[in-house]
Amino acid sequence: SLFGLPEQPAHERVLLTTDPATGLQAILAVHSTARGPAFGGCRFWHYDSDLAALHDALRLSQGMSLKNALADLPFGGGKAVILKPRGDFDRDALFAAFGRAVQSLRGSYITAEDVGTTTTDMRGVRAITPYVSGIPRDGAFGGDPSPKTAWGVFVAIQAGARHVLGRPSLDGVRVALQGLGAVGWHLAEFLHQAGARLVVTDVDAAKVERAVVQFGAQAAPVNEILAADVDVLAPCALGAALNAQTVPVIRARIVAGAANNQLATPADGDALQQRGICYLPDYLVNAGGIISVAREYRGEGDEAAVMAEVGRIAERVEELLDRVRVAGTTPARVADDWARAKLVQTS
Ligand code: NAD
Repeated sequence: SLFGLPEQPAHERVLLTTDPATGLQAILAVHSTARGPAFGGCRFWHYDSDLAALHDALRLSQGMSLKNALADLPFGGGKAVILKPRGDFDRDALFAAFGRAVQSLRGSYITAEDVGTTTTDMRGVRAITPYVSGIPRDGAFGGDPSPKTAWGVFVAIQAGARHVLGRPSLDGVRVALQGLGAVGWHLAEFLHQAGARLVVTDVDAAKVERAVVQFGAQAAPVNEILAADVDVLAPCALGAALNAQTVPVIRARIVAGAANNQLATPADGDALQQRGICYLPDYLVNAGGIISVAREYRGEGDEAAVMAEVGRIAERVEELLDRVRVAGTTPARVADDWARAKLVQTS
């Protein structure tokens, strides 16, 4: 294990970098380049400790390898984490310094938005290095990946509802949403349009109020959303929502959401299965955003083609659930084996 971190995924390369002039402290993790350059977003976040940031970067980076492989993208997996400075800082200068760090890896890592970073930040990175995506371009496809991520989660929920609940449509299906951020809000829109009944929460009460008004959603306290009496639970906030404390209280039959690293440990996936809850693995269902920024980076496709490619996440969910039936194990373990087999193949 690296630096004594438990269950640490082996990485090809990890860059720890600081830039005292701007306050940049960042981790650039390259998990695998077997399928192509490591592609994954940049998180900008406060962490309790430097070790917690490293742990997050390494887990997220490995998740990107699995996500890109399952989505059949010609990219490996990587992730960057910037430790958010506690005091004042010059955001433009900080992201320029981050761009220099990305450039120093000479294309083995390609960055984009993630939690805490914006298209404006990525424009600044682009001024320094070409190894960045997720930037709106005049007259061309690209930009904010979150609507594409939400579309992928939406079609995964549709497929799960068909397969697990025997519901041909989401009309009347009850869905609990944890987090109404960039992805969660778009997902709420898609679900509302499809006739789903929403129960929502967010630490930002204003977002909850908007959802109540706009979607007729029922508001739930932050600490009660996981136990909501619903058919589907969609974690769309941060990681490790599914853990030893929360799994026993979940009442939904399906868990499918945008958040990365939803399972605190693999055992939590087993525990969900034992409770008869179908967990659709995060990196399978939330691949819409990376599909979008990857196509943008390669200058391929347009809005319709990318939405269609993201829509094929539904077919993968169906295939996963068929494989689970044959394998007699959990969706998380089947997806893991499936993705790892693809990790060594190029598309
Ligand atoms: P975001 O920061 O825009 O939204 C997160 C939302 O969750 C915010 O509204 C925040 O207030 C809320 N939140 C935080 N803690 C909460 C809690 N304990 N309970 C309830 N709400 C809480 O981020 P996002 O871009 O919407 O991403 C959401 C998740 O999806 C993240 O885990 C991210 O890594 C993952 N993801 C995002 C994308 C993308 O395209 N943006 C792609 C793949 C995966």
